[in-house]
Amino acid sequence: MKIVGRIIVFLMIIIQTQEGFAWGMTGHRVISEIAEQHLTKKAKRNIQKLMGHQKLAYWSNWADFIKSSPDTVLLKTGTWHFLNTPGNLTHAQFLVELQNSPEQNLYKAYQRIKKEVVNKELSLEQRQQALYFMIHLLGDAHQPMHVSRAEDLGGNKIAVTFFGKGSNIHRVWDSDLVDNEKWSYTEYARVLDYEKYFFKQYTQSTFEDWLYESHELANLIYDDVAKDNKLSYDYIYRFKDPMEKALLKAGLRLAKELNDVFG
Ligand SMILES: [Zn+2]
Repeated sequence: MKIVGRIIVFLMIIIQTQEGFAWGMTGHRVISEIAEQHLTKKAKRNIQKLMGHQKLAYWSNWADFIKSSPDTVLLKTGTWHFLNTPGNLTHAQFLVELQNSPEQNLYKAYQRIKKEVVNKELSLEQRQQALYFMIHLLGDAHQPMHVSRAEDLGGNKIAVTFFGKGSNIHRVWDSDLVDNEKWSYTEYARVLDYEKYFFKQYTQSTFEDWLYESHELANLIYDDVAKDNKLSYDYIYRFKDPMEKALLKAGLRLAKELNDVFG
């Protein structure tokens, strides 16, 4: 019994830690790798001054990793990774929701973090951590199920099968869809980011617009999964392109944000 109990606890820990891990490891690395290819020389130099020569991809999952830290300050950052709103909002309604949203959510946390990165009154370590949050949270902003609904915990409570295996719609978007493509993160970054004009095309709009794009995609995903929760090839056929676009846009926009802050 004791062993069975331990196994159950162990499995619960695994399930809990998988919930809400935005984009999974590979997705966040792809986004950071794309961003790194579009940094200006000056931004690159200033980022290296702050965090050394390690790749951004290395630090891109740190913000999820520290959710298990005993540090109570860091533990309180769990809500920074997502934003809950009602579904099917117009752009104007969505903006009102953003303004009225809690301080500790993705929308407001990201904007605070973006200022902290270059705030010379903070310690080196605080500014480094702000940078790790920045590269992670801008990725989360493009994972549609992180800009979704409270009642089902961003889709964590919506059970699906993915090629016959048990999952939920949140995890499908965190990792199942990305991992299904079987690219390494550097390969994926390279095959997605193949035209020069993409950067200009995708970086003109605002942070609020980017969140709204995720909101609109989340609405599609909710409608779709309500009709059929057994996901396989036809799901890939419909959603591979929006998933890959979200990764690409996140990477290019992260570069733009870092260039603004550090350039
Ligand atoms: Zn996250």
